[in-house]
Amino acid sequence: MTWMASLAVLAYTPNRAAFQAAPNGAKLFAAHGPVADPRALYQALNDLRPDAAHVYTVKELNLRRDIINLRFTDGKLAFLQALDGRVTGAVFTGHGQIFATPHDRGERQSLARFLGVPLLDQTFIRSYLRFTDDTAAEIEKQLKPSESTAVSDPEFAASWEPIVANLNPWHSIRVMFDLLSSSPQPYFYAGIGSENVGPFDALVDNRRDEQVLLGQPRFVNGSRFYDTWASFRALDAPTAPIEEFAPLDYRVETAIADDLSLEGKTSLHLRTVRAGERIVPLELSRNLAVEEVKFSDGRPLVYFQNEDLSRRDILRQGNDSLLVVLPAGAKPHEEFQIDIRYRGRVISEAGNGVEFVGEHGTWYAHVGGGDHFVPFELSFRWPKRFTLVATGTRVESHEEGEARTGRWRSEVPFTVAGFNLGEYKMETAGGDRPKIFLYANQQLENAILELLRKGSTPAATPVMPPNFHSPHAHASSVVMPELPPSPAAVLKRLGGQVADSVQYFETLNGPFPFDHLDVSQIPGSFGQGWPGLVYLSTLVFMTPEAQARAGLAERTQEEARELMPFHEVVHQWWGNVVGSAIYRDAWIEEGLANYLALMYTDARRPGEHRLASWLEHYRAVLSAPIPGTTQVVGDAGPLTFGTRLTSSKAPSAYEAITYGKGTWVIHMLREMMRDPRAGDPDGRFRELLRAMQTDYRFRALSTADFQREVEQRMTAAMDLENTHSMDWFFAQWVRGSGIPHYSVDFQVRPHGREFAVTGRLLQTGVDDIFTAAVPLYGGKSGGKLERLGVVLTTGTETRFHFVARNRPPRILIDPQLTILCRTD
Ligand SMILES: [Zn+2]
Repeated sequence: MTWMASLAVLAYTPNRAAFQAAPNGAKLFAAHGPVADPRALYQALNDLRPDAAHVYTVKELNLRRDIINLRFTDGKLAFLQALDGRVTGAVFTGHGQIFATPHDRGERQSLARFLGVPLLDQTFIRSYLRFTDDTAAEIEKQLKPSESTAVSDPEFAASWEPIVANLNPWHSIRVMFDLLSSSPQPYFYAGIGSENVGPFDALVDNRRDEQVLLGQPRFVNGSRFYDTWASFRALDAPTAPIEEFAPLDYRVETAIADDLSLEGKTSLHLRTVRAGERIVPLELSRNLAVEEVKFSDGRPLVYFQNEDLSRRDILRQGNDSLLVVLPAGAKPHEEFQIDIRYRGRVISEAGNGVEFVGEHGTWYAHVGGGDHFVPFELSFRWPKRFTLVATGTRVESHEEGEARTGRWRSEVPFTVAGFNLGEYKMETAGGDRPKIFLYANQQLENAILELLRKGSTPAATPVMPPNFHSPHAHASSVVMPELPPSPAAVLKRLGGQVADSVQYFETLNGPFPFDHLDVSQIPGSFGQGWPGLVYLSTLVFMTPEAQARAGLAERTQEEARELMPFHEVVHQWWGNVVGSAIYRDAWIEEGLANYLALMYTDARRPGEHRLASWLEHYRAVLSAPIPGTTQVVGDAGPLTFGTRLTSSKAPSAYEAITYGKGTWVIHMLREMMRDPRAGDPDGRFRELLRAMQTDYRFRALSTADFQREVEQRMTAAMDLENTHSMDWFFAQWVRGSGIPHYSVDFQVRPHGREFAVTGRLLQTGVDDIFTAAVPLYGGKSGGKLERLGVVLTTGTETRFHFVARNRPPRILIDPQLTILCRTD
């Protein structure tokens, strides 16, 4: 069998999920012995091979790590060679079995989606083990006396040679973390070669926030996926996730040459969170080659940039990694600085004089994670033909020959910094606070010109970064161009809309958090919201006529017109003031960004039912079958799976669920909190938003925090279980998956001058315990509806009895769109 990739990127990329670590590691081994140089150590770890002189015959050998049970029934086993007396790996060929049942229901359902059953139970014929815990001793203890006489078996070792050579580099860095640390964190990895489902990963790693992971890399239809079957915290996981180092502030100096290549230096001020660690995990684009890393005292530091591991780009959220090795283990609460110099290209020509600044999150070196709110100072030097916009307040700017220089400072703490440049035309809009500046290219980029010429799909749509919103540019008809429309012509109109939307959003979220807002154009089909800086797709800067001429689908045009600009403006509050720490909570800011944007469009175009139109659109997207399956997209997983939703089984599920279902969930909460008789029917909803903006200002908001904030403002009608808890709602709609399907059958008989309506509401598509308050209306000829009442569903069938003033010829289920459900 071929041995495919493994989860190296997942395990080692310094993103938060990967590197949040446990404080209570067992004492393993400290840095000592002959291999003191980190580079030599890395190489030595890569070079480890099975010990051909000691191959064991094994029978009934068992290992248990958290809920993962490994049984090596019979076969041959060899340890990898020891390094400084430490054994960090073993290989096995023969017959074995792996068994695991996660305690969390959502994770069991996830396993069922990938494997057909809600547990892992697979036989295997090969296994590659890596560890920094006491696995070697545990195996040795179990080798029975009759088996413990190891024999020389060069053939066995040779059969593993190519596999081990291929897999080792993905584990060397992780092993090195512990070898160099005085507070090592247990690591156990089993690469499983299964004839049934192919190669997959089983991992228990105390440097991850969710220590246990089961999953598999897949290559389907030309796309690479990492299918996360299950990921969760270990049974003995520490309650508070602790990372190694936290940033205190950033100083980023960037020089952009005439050919748009970039030379930069990030000065990163760090605080030690867990003492004893020597490796600082950072993120930096692979397009920027590191030239030098220096410690506070000027000493050069050893670093590892994108070693073999991250070239295997299996996990899309895994940003490129840069690992810096400190001269000694970090002392408790120690603060220090590291300076990183790098050079490369992150700006590319999108054609026709339009530049594309790629690598939005990784153009400077930084600690991973979305909830480090810290000060930033950015300085730039760039060719003066360009206008450069950056996050923060510009504190100075000069012209020096053919170049301009400028310095920007964050007025409030940021989690990220960004910049954009182009040969822009600039417009201002709005009043004094915030000042709004709009920047559009004078010309359209080539991809859009192509669309206008030929009606083809844009060729160079950039890879989607976090916080993106992708309208899926799509061209449906061939059109001949007249004069290409200039984006600058749209600036005035767009500026007015953005200024107006900021005012509207202030009534929901509170004051605009920054003193100005830059709105700049970006090639491609997505937008992004950075602190005080919004990037909007060229599609937004096109007139409706130009969009139509370019053959954009109707929904894409609407998305550019009524959703994307405002979605990114809402991220100024949700994302840039209130953040999220882990992938499970990112749905909140995306759901709010999308929903509040639609509230704005709906409010400004009364009578056009824009919100209802989008809710219906999302419902249709979520109800569509996943190609090749009987499942619908909405069943691909819960909102809290975040980027895990993208898998080989359902490649489009992340977008459909995060944006579509996320929008619906916020809508359902607003509908439940709404009081139509109050002076401000949305008073409660507004109060919820304001409170979270205040209480979680420059902090991360978790799904549990969000639920608590809702509970503090819930109405009696929301208390479906009489527990004063919204658990029922969050369990079903946020932590659970599935969209209910409703139908009714009913009879009507006269009841005095009125009518008795009795019947059954049938609920399918969800669990028996799923509950909802479903409003039923009697339909009359002439279009007027009579509200009959609300049915609180309890299982697959709920009986109801209402009295109606008019004889209803039919019953409508939730015609006001208060519940995400299917009724046809
Ligand atoms: Zn977004």
